[in-house]
Amino acid sequence: MSQEHPLPLAGKVALVTGSSQGIGRAIAQRLAQMGADIVINYRSNAQAAEAAKAEIEALGRRCIAVQADVSQEEDVLRLFAEISSTLGPVAILVNNAGTTRDKLIIQMSLNDFEHVIDTNLRSAFLCTKAALRGMMKARWGRVINIASVAGLMGPAGQANYGASKAAVLSLTLSTAREMASRNITANALAPGFIPTELTSIVTEPQRKYMLDSTPLGRFGTTDEVAAAAAFLCSPEAGYITGQILSIDGGMSIHI
Ligand code: NAP
Repeated sequence: MSQEHPLPLAGKVALVTGSSQGIGRAIAQRLAQMGADIVINYRSNAQAAEAAKAEIEALGRRCIAVQADVSQEEDVLRLFAEISSTLGPVAILVNNAGTTRDKLIIQMSLNDFEHVIDTNLRSAFLCTKAALRGMMKARWGRVINIASVAGLMGPAGQANYGASKAAVLSLTLSTAREMASRNITANALAPGFIPTELTSIVTEPQRKYMLDSTPLGRFGTTDEVAAAAAFLCSPEAGYITGQILSIDGGMSIHI
C-alpha cells in the first residue's frame, strides 16, 4: 500500500454473509481489493468458503471463514463474537445470504414460506442489529442489503422470495433513517438475473422469459453486482443513503 494512495477501505472489517460462492464471493473479493479485511460466512459448504478465503488472503488481506446459519440468532451472536475477537468490529455489513423455494402459492407450504423469509429477511435483521452497535461507536458504517428485482415486481411462483426481498428493501430504508445521524449509510442492491448456483435451477423457458424482459439483452455477472456494492462502500458514496440501486439490465424499467 503506497503512502500517497492508501486503499480506501484499508483497516476496515467487512462481513459478507453467504460469501462462499456467487454474488457474495465476488463482493468479498472486490472489498478486499479495496483494502478491507474480510469475513467469509457460509452455512454448509466449508470447502467453497476455504477457497474464497484463500482468494482474499492472496490479496494480502486478513480473512476468516466462519460457518453460521445467519437466520439463527445464536449463530449470528457467535459469528459476531468471533469476528470481534479476531479482526475487530464490523465496519461494513453486506447482507447477501439468500435462498429460493419457488412454488405457486397454492402449492407452497408454510415451511417453504418461512424458510425463505428467515434466510433472506430474518438474517438481515439479526446481522444488522448485531453490527450497528460497533458502527455507532465508530461513527462510520456501511450496510448493503442484497435485495432483488423480485422485491419490486412480485413474480409468480416467488411469493415467499418476492415478499422477503420487498421487506429487505423496507428494512434498508428504516436502517438508513435510524442511523443517518451516526454517519452510517444503508442502501440496497436489486439485481436482475445473475447466473449463479441459485439460478441454476431456472428452466429454459423461464430463462428465455427473463432474457426477453431484459432490455440490455443479456444476463448480469456477479462482478457487475460487486462493482455496485464496492461503490456504495467507497468514500465517494458517503452522501448516498436509503437508496435502491437496480442492476438488472433495465428489467425494472417496465415496472
Ligand atoms: P448462491 O450462489 O446460491 O449463494 C448463496 C450463498 O448464501 C452461499 O454462500 C450459501 O452458503 C449462503 N447461505 C445460504 N443460506 C445461508 C444461511 N442461512 N446462512 C449463511 N449463509 C447462507 O446465491 P447468489 O445467486 O449468489 O445470491 C446471493 C444473493 O443475491 C441472495 O440474497 C439472492 O437472493 C440475491 N440475488 C440473486 C440473484 C441472481 O440472479 N443470482 C438476483 C437477485 C438477487 P452455503 O452454500 O454454504 O449454504
